[in-house]
Amino acid sequence: MPKARKRLLINGLVQGVGFRPFVYQLAQRLQLHGFVRNQSEGVLIEVEGETEELRAFQSALVQEAPALSYIISIQTEDIAPSGEKGFTIDASTSHAVPSTFILPDIAVCDDCLAEMLDPGDRRYGYAFISCTQCGPRFTISHHLPYDRPNTTMAPFILCERCRREYKDPHDRRFHAQTNACVDCGPQLWLCDHQGHRLVTKDPIAQSISLLAQGKIIAVRGLGGFHLAVDARNNAAVQTLRQRKGRAEKPFAIMVRDLSVAETLCEINDAERKWLLHHTRPIVLLRKKNHADVAPAVAPNNAFLGIMLPYTPLHHLLLQKLDCLVMTSGNFSEEPIACGNEEALSRLAAMADYFLLHDREILQRCDDSIIRVIGDEPRLLRRARGFVPRPIFLNKPLQKPVLACGGELKNTIALSRGNAVFLSQHLGDLDNPLTLQHFEATIAYFKQLLQIEPEIIAHDLHPDYLATQWALRQKHKTLVAVQHHHAHLAAVLAENGFAGPAIGLILDGTGYGSDGTIWGGEVLIGQASGYRRFACLEPVAMPGSTAAIRQPWRMALSYLIHAYGEEYRKLDLPMLRTRDHKIVHQMIAQKINSPLTSSCGRLFDGVAALLGLRDEVHFEAQAAIELEMLALDQNGNPLKEAIYPPTADGAIPIKPLIRALVEGLQNKVSATQLAADFHVTLAELFLKAIEAARQQTDIHCVALSGGVFQNSVFTPYMEEILRQADFSVLTHKLVPCNDGGIALGQIAVADAIMHKSLYRS
Ligand code: ZN
Ligand code: ZN
Ligand code: FE
Repeated sequence: MPKARKRLLINGLVQGVGFRPFVYQLAQRLQLHGFVRNQSEGVLIEVEGETEELRAFQSALVQEAPALSYIISIQTEDIAPSGEKGFTIDASTSHAVPSTFILPDIAVCDDCLAEMLDPGDRRYGYAFISCTQCGPRFTISHHLPYDRPNTTMAPFILCERCRREYKDPHDRRFHAQTNACVDCGPQLWLCDHQGHRLVTKDPIAQSISLLAQGKIIAVRGLGGFHLAVDARNNAAVQTLRQRKGRAEKPFAIMVRDLSVAETLCEINDAERKWLLHHTRPIVLLRKKNHADVAPAVAPNNAFLGIMLPYTPLHHLLLQKLDCLVMTSGNFSEEPIACGNEEALSRLAAMADYFLLHDREILQRCDDSIIRVIGDEPRLLRRARGFVPRPIFLNKPLQKPVLACGGELKNTIALSRGNAVFLSQHLGDLDNPLTLQHFEATIAYFKQLLQIEPEIIAHDLHPDYLATQWALRQKHKTLVAVQHHHAHLAAVLAENGFAGPAIGLILDGTGYGSDGTIWGGEVLIGQASGYRRFACLEPVAMPGSTAAIRQPWRMALSYLIHAYGEEYRKLDLPMLRTRDHKIVHQMIAQKINSPLTSSCGRLFDGVAALLGLRDEVHFEAQAAIELEMLALDQNGNPLKEAIYPPTADGAIPIKPLIRALVEGLQNKVSATQLAADFHVTLAELFLKAIEAARQQTDIHCVALSGGVFQNSVFTPYMEEILRQADFSVLTHKLVPCNDGGIALGQIAVADAIMHKSLYRS
């Protein structure tokens, strides 16, 4: 039989993910000879054997690759057979070859879990068990390459047994940088809120019994602290709300396993997959009627944010109580606490006890949040499990770019070649701690990935703290990017599509190129440029940001927009309870009442108009309650409200407001009107997009902006676009909200620099 030999060079995220042991086992199975080796361009393999087996090897290489790996390309070459016998993992060069990537933190794998729960195993009950397939990565790494001395595992000197595992190419802990055991690795202890250590042999059992008594425990995890409390104990959850300064925003819960989650929520296949995914995000799931969970966990919300345990410690903690609130260890919207001393000072007023450990956390990283809409994942908060996995662009960028992101849900991004590293969710840049976190994250990413950016992209808004930070940087080329253009470029980049496309960009706030506030936009363009084809008719925001906190002001503004002075004659509860005359004057005299085409404000205003709430406690609360109201009701488009944009590109909303008011006056239920509003708005945008197609012959629509987090509006919008023969691009693993715009800023900055290079 003729033998053949192939050389394969595999490029991508293939180092530090157990790729070499996988190749070794595959070669053994197919009785092939040769070797596998890490080198700077990726993983190099030479295999020799029967052509049939070689073919099987190549296809299995792609199909069975470790879950954590990501293959970008495989270069294959036929070389002369050497008659080599056996297959080896060539470990000699592994230390000399730094991988250019660092993995995200990974949920504990099944093998480690089985060992931890096996009383006969030497790691029985050990809360820091890990291997090459699981454990912390990003949050413990100082810089590349990913090697134990460059992580916070450095102070833990491997014991003899752990060292043997680390050195054995056939062991599943071969080169596991986080390898540890109870003799040599990190340890746990329990403190009271003053930092006094509790005398206990078993801090986990003690924690469980404290939780069962309704106590709040700050638990040090992977990317920071959680505040944990029994999720079935309403009084305890209420106490946590008071102490945390969080009135109504839902808490996430962690449940023991999938079967517990099934008792609380309706879960479809796609959602189940994400609950169990090694990234272990919080998944927003539809709550079952009479779900056994404290009402204070998620008031006025039909969904629960559920995650499964992702560290060995979580699995141990959930052995008795099967359902815990696990919310970020912070006050209100501040960054999550991550250091022991820091937590003891910042969380002392919130937690009764502290479950601490001595493996330092270098980067704060919250839990990620995902929602499945139309069977597709929509990442709403991209953090643990996903960061710093790069987003690969179609072509390499010319120079490294740093993008500063927006103001709310800020993330930053850094690029190298065709890889964009989008940071974890950092929070709203409106408090000093988040600004510090923002600056520290930029420094950390530059150091971690060893990238020095030459270009800095920032938002057009002059007052954003991120913009001001960018303007202070010396010796860099600055590129200002319009907010909704960044949204459009982000969704194009995520989908690897160069454009042009029609962008439907719907969100709360973004600084427009004309100085007004945008947010209900139909744009046409791509990364290198755009034009504003149409937008929602601008209305006044009386009191500016006060109109965001008090949606009734927006409702009044829409009423005045639709009825003029006649609005006073309307018989609406809001007009009876609120002092609308002063706000009316503000609008009439244009006092602190900037114009906005925002779609988020329209949702807020309609929620207030339908009597849902006049004021909000957290961002988008009114819009979310409007969505909740519409969830189970079939909406009917209000035909009298659907018009194409006018010649000046305004999408008319007067008829929509009038139709809703008429409905109210005809005693149509708020539930029905909420549902009708969602679908009518979508039909309005469809009209505008069809007009854009007619003018440009562009058939691709790209959807971005925070409004697409809405699980009623989004599937309907996508459906009617497809029915009208548009191809539809959506966000999946990059947030549609402002957490994704740093990616778009990078794409725009590069495209604009490219244009100016051509010109000069
Ligand atoms: Zn493992
Ligand atoms: Zn050990
Ligand atoms: Fe936005």
